[in-house]
Amino acid sequence: MSIAFIDLQAQRLRLNGRIEAAVQAAVVGGAWVMGPQVRQFEADLAAFGQAKHALGCANGTDALILPLIAWGIRTGDAVFCPSFTFTATGEVVPWLGATPVFVDVDAHTFNMDPVQLEAAIEATLKEGRLRPRVVIAVDLFGQPADYPAIRAICDKYGLKLIADSAQGFGCTLNGHHPIKWADITTTSFFPAKPLGCYGDGGAVLTDDDDLAEEMDSLRVHGKVVAKDMKDGQTFDHDPKYLAMRIGMNSRLDTIQAAVLIEKLNVFSDEIGWRNAIADRYNAGLAPHVARVPTVIDGGVSVWAQYTIEHEDRDGLVAHLKDQGVPTAVYYPVPMHLQPAYARFSKGPGSLPVTERLKERVLSLPMHSDLDEATQDTIIAAVAGFR
Ligand SMILES: *Cc1c(COP(=O)(O)O)cnc(C)c1O
Repeated sequence: MSIAFIDLQAQRLRLNGRIEAAVQAAVVGGAWVMGPQVRQFEADLAAFGQAKHALGCANGTDALILPLIAWGIRTGDAVFCPSFTFTATGEVVPWLGATPVFVDVDAHTFNMDPVQLEAAIEATLKEGRLRPRVVIAVDLFGQPADYPAIRAICDKYGLKLIADSAQGFGCTLNGHHPIKWADITTTSFFPAKPLGCYGDGGAVLTDDDDLAEEMDSLRVHGKVVAKDMKDGQTFDHDPKYLAMRIGMNSRLDTIQAAVLIEKLNVFSDEIGWRNAIADRYNAGLAPHVARVPTVIDGGVSVWAQYTIEHEDRDGLVAHLKDQGVPTAVYYPVPMHLQPAYARFSKGPGSLPVTERLKERVLSLPMHSDLDEATQDTIIAAVAGFR
């Protein structure tokens, strides 16, 4: 049998008809948009993520734009984010006319380097062209960014902090979810993410009541929300059709919420299994590769990816392909070297750690249902390279 990079059918079969039954109930229930499953999932998600509010939205990219709109981010504002990430992280910034400023990552964790973040903020202030406003930290490959250090920098310069946890939702640092430090956590339920649905979906989590209400309005075309009605304000029209702010359509489908309720029920177990797999990989692979993953002290990863470094990365990729082991390279082209982002970039040589990693990293199969025999086959295949 061939080895899967991510095997979601194995998970579906393990759940033994529960997802199919939940989808059927959502179809028959008929509340296909913002149905009761959405409300239930939002409550479950907030409880799991230790946040006061969780709101579903259409995808993990919209989850990033919602707080930026709510905070009034606009032309002349600087938003600091890593370059070594999926492009969605920085993509939302120019939508509002603002400027992404790309920051280098730590060579061990691959997450935003706080020293480089502060240097980038200082350089931006010195240049005087842009106002620093927001930091987007990414929980790359599933592990938490260095939130205590990044939060301290945000406080020093008066910046908002987004935790882009599309890959890392469920990760913790010293027992806390990123929302302990971030103003908002955003996530994606794209199927391949550690907590995925059967299509597109996303969510935002925050402890900030006002921000939550603002985003609840924005995700439904700027609809009237409770704070718009305060001081006894009344409207001539059905407030349902009043736009109080320029919003968008970014809802989580009821069917996807139904899938997610079932998946969230088993997510803690799955995080445990993923960590057991990563531990076995680490033990088996450490003698054979340049570096096995380093998780930040006190951090628990959800292992969206298990990513190693190798001097002859492309040779190893070809060897593993011959052996029937699928691999992936995340990310071969970091954001600051992407054609579309050239005008926001200082070009090749500007982010040396990121540029070194893109030549050396390689992700191996990782999912909750990866059995020990298959792990051993993969370890043996890597060990057999030269
Ligand atoms: C997947 C991903 C996103 C975007 O999520 P979508 O649901 O695909 O829009 C954002 N940031 C990171 C780091 C991601 O991996």
